[in-house]
Amino acid sequence: MGRAGVVLGIEMSRLARTGKDWHHLLELCSLSGTLLADPDAVYDPGYYNDRLLLGLKGTMSEAEIFLIRQRMLGAKRAKAERGELILPLPAGYVRRPSGEAAFDPDEQAQDVVRLIFRTFQRLGTLNAVLRYLVGHEIQLPVRARSGPAKGDLEWRRPTRETLQNMLRNPAYAGYYAYGRRQVDPRRKIPGRPDTGKVVKPAGEWLVMLPGRLPAYIFEDEYRANLARLAANQQTAESPGAPRNGEALLSGLLRCGLCGGHRMAVSYHDPSARAAYGYTCGFYPVNYGTGDRCQHIAGPALDDYVARQVLDAVAPAALEVSMAAAAHAENERAALDKLWRQRVERGRYAADRARRQYQLADPENRLVTRQLEADWESALAEAGRLEAEYQRFAEQTPAVLAPAERDAIRSLASDLPRVWDAPTTTRADRKELLRILTDDVTVAVEGDSEIVNVDITWAGGHRTSGRAVRPVGRLDQLSYYPALLETVTRLAGEGRTSRQIAGTLNAAGYRPPKRTAVFTGQQVRNIISKHAIRENAKGRPAVLTDLDPGEWSVPGLSAELGMPTASIYNWIYRGWITARRAPGGRNWIITADEQQMRELRERRDRPPGYYTRARWAPPQAETGETQKEGQGGQP
Ligand SMILES: [Zn+2]
Repeated sequence: MGRAGVVLGIEMSRLARTGKDWHHLLELCSLSGTLLADPDAVYDPGYYNDRLLLGLKGTMSEAEIFLIRQRMLGAKRAKAERGELILPLPAGYVRRPSGEAAFDPDEQAQDVVRLIFRTFQRLGTLNAVLRYLVGHEIQLPVRARSGPAKGDLEWRRPTRETLQNMLRNPAYAGYYAYGRRQVDPRRKIPGRPDTGKVVKPAGEWLVMLPGRLPAYIFEDEYRANLARLAANQQTAESPGAPRNGEALLSGLLRCGLCGGHRMAVSYHDPSARAAYGYTCGFYPVNYGTGDRCQHIAGPALDDYVARQVLDAVAPAALEVSMAAAAHAENERAALDKLWRQRVERGRYAADRARRQYQLADPENRLVTRQLEADWESALAEAGRLEAEYQRFAEQTPAVLAPAERDAIRSLASDLPRVWDAPTTTRADRKELLRILTDDVTVAVEGDSEIVNVDITWAGGHRTSGRAVRPVGRLDQLSYYPALLETVTRLAGEGRTSRQIAGTLNAAGYRPPKRTAVFTGQQVRNIISKHAIRENAKGRPAVLTDLDPGEWSVPGLSAELGMPTASIYNWIYRGWITARRAPGGRNWIITADEQQMRELRERRDRPPGYYTRARWAPPQAETGETQKEGQGGQP
């Protein structure tokens, strides 16, 4: 506004710490003719010499602040590289007055941390650990970092995020790590110095020194935990944590037809539990064209792989039973210890409250009233803990009873029973499958019911086998020719369809859906569909001696892919040339290539094509159709 004549400052270059602000000020002053003054001189930014000097002062100042910051950060980094920079410690550690980190002297705090790592190893997901802790009322030991109670142990309810931070924290494996979170300037929010921190992957940390802290877990355990957390995420690369969906092999299955792409689970009907299958949609999904490689109904394949796995682990039954018994007792002992510590803590708190109350001057009612209330609530809490512990001890006896041991032993030797038990969840089964197998590659043989299954076991060993899937049509079956031959032969021998069904079942043939065995009705269908007909005497006759250009009704029906009823309809309408076979009721159809082409065209027209053309009111669009329709009719 041109009202300021001079801007005075003790050290002008300190006015701004960035060149941008400084030059902005110079520009404004030179435009409005304002002077700048510091203890050294008065400057007029409109003059070349003064402006040059002021610009230099600004540059010096910027360089100075940069140097100071650089030196500070460099010193901090150098200290961290020596492992001497004091970093906040996670739960389960305390810092001694001398500055070194040590295990938390509180026994219960240590036990809880150990329990969390052990439980994650056993259960495998954060969610399961969290539910376990909540179910057993286990809280996390945290040393207060600030406030009046700084350094005191606080018990906080576990959260998913805390657990995740614990499992990811390399301190528990003894590492001194600095720079796990680094500042990304693009994410900073102006005016909030703590913002913009980004968690970096392990390779990009600034400092990583092994063996600087007492360790709760071994290094390979830490890496295994990280790998497990990564594998639990459901992405294209990792199968994700096992969930309670029906499909056992979800995430494990690879397609053997297109080079091992992961197969997806598809549920046909959410209300039917067994209606799911595995599909490889690599080409349609990634190229937008082409057919899916293969589709396999789920339950049959799941059963096959499950049996393979159960057979594989059967020899280890005795070891499993011993380990399971020991594990049950260990877990019980760990929980019991935590309970006893909790009870002891409650008793101590009550005792301390009592002593505080007794030490107070009885005349000072203001203080004693509060202390009395504290003592009462501490006593109530101690009583509650003891009662809870009592209940826990009654529910879970310290040593397994002989009957329980026998139960474990018998279950271990009868794994299929455990597998099928209603208390075994789908997630349990998937977990077992994933422990034992790396992946399962499947390839359907042609269009048939046979599926070649390659199992890669954990450790790399591979076995191959064949599973059988249900197929939709009889002629997809690999034994279709043999089946047809048997039926024709037996029908020729004059057997009834029920007898034939019995023979087929005894020979191990199964109908395509694999839901049951062959019945007489199904055999009758096969006989009628495949031109094995019975003549008037009840003797079967087969139309085999057809010339080229001649067809049986079922033969033509199969060739054109339409029902036999339509073929008969067409014969009666006269659209097909046919004559009776000598001595029988069978039709023999003659159709040369030209006629076959016409029949195919006729078949491809939509249903109701002729009737609609006849009855629809004359319209411009339908006029042509009508003509063609009439022309097509004889
Ligand atoms: Zn595929």
